[in-house]
Amino acid sequence: MTDLKQSSPPRLVAVSNRTAYGSQTRAGGLAVALWDTLAESGGLWIGWSGKIFDVPRRRVQLVEEDGVSFALVDMSKAEYEGFYLGYANSVLWPVMHNRLDLAVFDSDYFAAYESINRRFAEAVEAQTSETDIVWVQDYHFFLLARHLKDGGCRRRTGFFLHIPFPAPEVFRSIPNHMTLAEGICAYDVVGLQSPHDCANLGRYLHEEMGAEKMDDERYRIGDHVLTMRLCPIGIDAEGFSLSATSEVAEKASNRLSRFLGKRNLVIGVDRMDYSKGLPQRFEGMATLFDKYPDLHGNISFTQIAPPSRSVVEEYAQLRQQLDELSGRINGDYGDLDWIPIRYLARGYDREELAGLYRLARVGLVTPLQDGMNLVAKEYIAAQDPDDPGVLVLSQFAGAAQQMTDALIINPHDRNAVAEAVREALQMPLDERQRRWRALYRGICEQDINWWRDHFLAAFDTSGPAD
Ligand code: ADP
Repeated sequence: MTDLKQSSPPRLVAVSNRTAYGSQTRAGGLAVALWDTLAESGGLWIGWSGKIFDVPRRRVQLVEEDGVSFALVDMSKAEYEGFYLGYANSVLWPVMHNRLDLAVFDSDYFAAYESINRRFAEAVEAQTSETDIVWVQDYHFFLLARHLKDGGCRRRTGFFLHIPFPAPEVFRSIPNHMTLAEGICAYDVVGLQSPHDCANLGRYLHEEMGAEKMDDERYRIGDHVLTMRLCPIGIDAEGFSLSATSEVAEKASNRLSRFLGKRNLVIGVDRMDYSKGLPQRFEGMATLFDKYPDLHGNISFTQIAPPSRSVVEEYAQLRQQLDELSGRINGDYGDLDWIPIRYLARGYDREELAGLYRLARVGLVTPLQDGMNLVAKEYIAAQDPDDPGVLVLSQFAGAAQQMTDALIINPHDRNAVAEAVREALQMPLDERQRRWRALYRGICEQDINWWRDHFLAAFDTSGPAD
């Protein structure tokens, strides 16, 4: 066993499908939090090179940027299709978000997933030493620590799951769920976003693997002790708040203001994904327009949703569904001088987004299932403390477990969405300020640096009791 109490902090090695290497902007978020810590510990970031080749290659490219080393792994076209588009995005993403109906269980996908996890484990073994802490990000790499162990490689390993862990009954429907669970159990520390996720994984491990709960965080599975840490991810709240008053932010906000006139802005900002509940949100707004004609002409709902992963069929269908819905709602409720729903299928810069959030009287965040939902936190960070807007938040976002001063709704209930937006629009200033202060305090206390430190601190106490 390695000595955990070293005088200098151990070197951190991050593993994720995508790295921040070569990206123009690293403003805020995970990339900065990881980058700082990696740079301080002379660390290494291992990930996919972003390059796809016709035939498999075993090349690992070593590069450096701003004090951080990178080991970049290539993929062949078949591997990318089987591992990324296939197993990660067409099996794990839908199932973990409770959409079993959308999962495509193809055994070739799983073979590609195993093979890429093995390839990354080999890269970890080759590029790290026993004293390093290897921190693996997300559902692309459930099996990485297992492959390390099988190859006789001893490392301290942590895994953070950014997406939800579903009810055991749902997880069990994945044909290879036991292999995935054995993968989870090979890590020393597993971090999850919400108490709900911890309860689900805890129950699954108990029922399927006979895991025994030792204390609040530790489970004994055979002769292995797994630390399961509740570690909700945060944002750079103060940095984001500052960017909401930047020149770029104000310019974007002014552009939209000119269009809005005196109308109140209700904003939605999401990747276009079926987990985000966009059709249900549009229906909720239609219900609002239907029930409250006095709002016609007085509010503007703007949904920003750039297409993502458009090669997967469900995403193309969603796009079509949103096009149809917004067309129908605008046709039904719009007027010569009023467009009820503005739907923009494109992305904006972070600073522009911050300016748009700040302008919005209501932030509408209504996913059907979401690991955390950072947009909810960004919306709060961007508000003007003297005249803050109101967050309407789905009970099924991880963020709802922390952000209890938002208006929490069931996104499937279009009446509830409509009533919450109505309530938000009518909310008196003192209540808006009181709710906002509590929410802002929360996102500052548990920001992105807190998240990183809280996760890594689990290594101080992980492992069997003395
Ligand atoms: P997910 O990781 O599922 O996409 P999150 O809400 O946790 O959902 O994170 C989304 C991130 O992407 C946020 O930082 C948000 O600012 C950014 N984002 C979402 N939609 C857009 C958009 N239309 N333009 C630019 N950035 C966006």
